[in-house]
Amino acid sequence: MARVFNFSAGPSMLPLEVLREAQADLIDYQGSGQSVMEMSHRSKVYEEIIFGAEKLFRQVYNVPDNYKLLFLQGGASTQFAAVPLNLLRKSGRADYIVTGQFANKAYQEAQKYGQIRLVASSKDKTFSYIPELTKDDFDPEADYAYICFNNTIFGTKFPYIPDTGDVPLVADISSCMISEPLDISKFGVVYGGAQKNVAPAGLTVVIVREDLLGYAKPETPVMLNWKAQVDGGSMYNTPPCWSIYICKLVLEWIERLGGLEVLAENNRKKAALLYDFLDNSKLFGNPVRKQDRSMMNVTFVCPTDELNAQFVKEAAAAGFVNLKGHRSVGGMRASIYNAMPYEGLEKLVAFMREFEKANG
Ligand SMILES: *Cc1c(COP(=O)(O)O)cnc(C)c1O
Repeated sequence: MARVFNFSAGPSMLPLEVLREAQADLIDYQGSGQSVMEMSHRSKVYEEIIFGAEKLFRQVYNVPDNYKLLFLQGGASTQFAAVPLNLLRKSGRADYIVTGQFANKAYQEAQKYGQIRLVASSKDKTFSYIPELTKDDFDPEADYAYICFNNTIFGTKFPYIPDTGDVPLVADISSCMISEPLDISKFGVVYGGAQKNVAPAGLTVVIVREDLLGYAKPETPVMLNWKAQVDGGSMYNTPPCWSIYICKLVLEWIERLGGLEVLAENNRKKAALLYDFLDNSKLFGNPVRKQDRSMMNVTFVCPTDELNAQFVKEAAAAGFVNLKGHRSVGGMRASIYNAMPYEGLEKLVAFMREFEKANG
């Protein structure tokens, strides 16, 4: 068996231990005589999986009791519409900060449903930084304010949680979910596709404060109505059963590591190793303002497109795959989510050092 170091932005690596567990249970889950892929989502045995996953998720991520947690389908992109449909409940206005492509998509989608204001954007510098905002920048009458907390494509992350006063803050946390502790009480809603840090594709996690439920616009499709999904216990219809099961295994893996603090420390060390190398390299550079660097997605470039292409090609041949940057920005990007081992970074940096020697 030869496994590569996979730096994909998502779907991405899962812990090898988790894959082995899933393999062992693939055909006969814990003596049930069936695979999790074949189970009725209403069965007793599956109930234990989904309830267990929710309980662990709350425990590991420290989700406050006054928040509901939903396991949904449709990806983060479906929530770009669900957010305004559920939250534009009084003034019909919302404030958006655009720090990258996914934030921009959410901003565009929301415009179908209300008066949406662009508070700030970092487009002027190719989304290489996070704007500094204070409470005065926000509309106190807005129904919510919106940010993308970690910008997967551009490799930035909010180094702070904006103070929006009493206006609920909504954050897309797709690419930083459960990578380090997060004070969820500072947000009205956080949500994300789980295929980056915690599960295979197909699962979207939405965490919403209880007092924000029940105000969806009447025309909201029931599948996008958070209250309907809460009332159905994430099972208004068939949930993404398999992805929820793997999510539970990933959460158990995090607990075995020692919990979220230990995982976060590993993640910090991984990112520091690569950023330190980039900061001292004469060939590679990182375009992001230092204080806004992402711990999950590290972007980097060589001086020419030819060298970038050569690097991606040689890296893939050496077992470091999916290092090509997003098609909209070029260069390289190493997505180093929870399941990427420290060894993957050590080996990547050693490889980059050799590449620099040969081409610098
Ligand atoms: C990947 C990603 C998305 C899109 O997620 P889908 O589940 O594919 O819809 C949205 N936002 C962020 C920050 C992402 O990283």
